[in-house]
Amino acid sequence: MARIAEAAARAGREPAEIELVAVSKTKPPAMIAELAEAGQSVFGENRVQELETKAAILPATLRWHFIGRLQRNKVRKVLPLAEAIHSVDSTELAQRIDAIATELGLFPRVYLQANIAGEASKSGFSPSALAEALPGLLSLPRLEVLGLMAIPPPRPTAEAARSDFRALRQLRDDLQQKTGAGLPGLSMGMSHDFEAAIAEGATVVRVGSALFGAR
Ligand SMILES: *Cc1c(COP(=O)(O)O)cnc(C)c1O
Repeated sequence: MARIAEAAARAGREPAEIELVAVSKTKPPAMIAELAEAGQSVFGENRVQELETKAAILPATLRWHFIGRLQRNKVRKVLPLAEAIHSVDSTELAQRIDAIATELGLFPRVYLQANIAGEASKSGFSPSALAEALPGLLSLPRLEVLGLMAIPPPRPTAEAARSDFRALRQLRDDLQQKTGAGLPGLSMGMSHDFEAAIAEGATVVRVGSALFGAR
């Protein structure tokens, strides 16, 4: 939290503008409980089964964000458990979430994942695909689109990482201008680069190993 506050101050931002998602994947419930007792309330998981198990064991006051690749047949399990999904990477997935949310009476909060560096191995909308898909995504009645998310590749320097985050912010700005939609959220930055992400406007950082140790 101190590092987030310092990075925010350097960027002339308020620390309260930045939400910390503690990425607890692979870590045991006891470690999560310990961090929760220290005041952390939002935790990120990337596997549905693991999220289900942990949510069942740990106190209901904990809030879960789903940050991994989500298969369409797992949406029904995730929606009641996760207060946000960071990894909506296709129109088909968004439509599925909307349909299941209608059945369950929920209004899921989501981020649209952008493949900002054009990596073949990563999921996410390409910037041009996102521009094309966005009006349809925004018209889904149940989906609350909070903004964009990206997982840029590891870069050798903080400055190089920053340019990926800047690209996501600029994509967001472009999309807002084109569609008139509000996309306030930017989910970007992990243990090794969250300070650079905050400098470029991250509103959510997803930090695992810096909190829990190496996986
Ligand atoms: C694992 C993971 C993180 C956290 O990574 P760290 O380097 O441990 O901070 C963040 N975002 C996503 C999508 C992840 O899968």
